[in-house]
Amino acid sequence: MSGIAIVGAGMAGAAAASALMAGATKRAEAPTCLGSSSAPCVPSCWILEAGAMASCAPFTVNETEGERGWSSKFPPPGATGRCGRHMWPATDATDGRGEFEMNAVEEIRQYVRSRGLEACCLDFPGSIELAIDEEELELIRSGHGEFWDEEKVTEVLGCRPGSFRGGMFHAGGGKVSPLVLRDALLQDAIDRGARLLSSCVVERIEEKDDRVVLHTCMKTIEVEKVIVCSNAWIPQILSEYESIIRPTCDVVLMTRPLPPAWKFGFTAGDDQWYGMQMQDGRIFLGGASRECECLSLESERNVNEDASRQLRDFMSKFPFLSESDIEAEWTGPPDLPQP
Ligand SMILES: Cc1cc2nc3c(=O)[nH]c(=O)nc-3n(C[C@H](O)[C@H](O)[C@H](O)COP(=O)(O)OP(=O)(O)OC[C@H]3O[C@@H](n4cnc5c(N)ncnc54)[C@H](O)[C@@H]3O)c2cc1C
Repeated sequence: MSGIAIVGAGMAGAAAASALMAGATKRAEAPTCLGSSSAPCVPSCWILEAGAMASCAPFTVNETEGERGWSSKFPPPGATGRCGRHMWPATDATDGRGEFEMNAVEEIRQYVRSRGLEACCLDFPGSIELAIDEEELELIRSGHGEFWDEEKVTEVLGCRPGSFRGGMFHAGGGKVSPLVLRDALLQDAIDRGARLLSSCVVERIEEKDDRVVLHTCMKTIEVEKVIVCSNAWIPQILSEYESIIRPTCDVVLMTRPLPPAWKFGFTAGDDQWYGMQMQDGRIFLGGASRECECLSLESERNVNEDASRQLRDFMSKFPFLSESDIEAEWTGPPDLPQP
């Protein structure tokens, strides 16, 4: 077997696969390899994903319903399906971060446009950075953006008076449907010959001469190179990362579709809390980040009770939201902080 294996089909794995296969001919245009009419295509790129996905065969992006998978009331494993959905490039110029993020957002915009996915995938109404106390307010006011006082924030977000001291509106902030974007990238790679194996847990990676051997729960795959895009789970396959990666977990609540309430996404308490209403009316509220007690691919279902309570306390700042609106709650590893 030859080629490259990508471990993990989140946003990073899908983007890597799509970029790798960008130069390849589309399957529809070249149904067989090497000009032979009978030889099946040998994939030069394997995408190995532990989670169960739609199918191992090429699948179609659901362009009308927007987010995939909500019927199961539980998003697929990985941060990509579980995140807060902010597409908010930094304005901070330190180390070229702002420029890098602006360029990345522009690239994503162009890609989404080229795939005709604007309506269900991206929206840039702006975002608000909220201050919970005086100290944060001072910090926020020293940055760029349009300052909103307490009264305006209370009116725009429909929160209880006194919940926030004010905020900074950033016109460049937006919302993204990450699974729609991820699926489109995967579809591109698959169309060009990449092969997706879902429910395929990579258990061990071994270097053998100039090859890499991946031991998976399905079979052993030998390739020239491997790209590991397994996010916080990387120490489980590459033990040298154990000492340098300390995953944290957030909790996220998702409501049923609600009447329009928030045009803008927001963060508060130095990104400790965030909220967003998506195009389908569902509200996502997240935060209460803490170090993961134990991270396995299944443990994301075990929401920390204390974090869940804190998030509900935060939710009570918005009187139009109630416990009965909550359709789903999950946890996920957003970060890989170094000790
Ligand atoms: C709660 C939360 C809120 C967030 N909010 C935002 C936000 O608002 N804006 C923003 O820009 N970012 C946000 N993030 C961060 C963002 O979601 C991640 O940076 C991004 O999705 C990471 O993508 P990834 O492909 O690297 O990882 P993931 O999406 O986690 O994908 C890794 C994949 O690897 C698979 N995998 C793991 N181990 C194995 C194995 N051994 N074998 C095979 N497959 C394996 C997993 O199943 C998973 O699908 C948030 C993240 C979380 C969890």
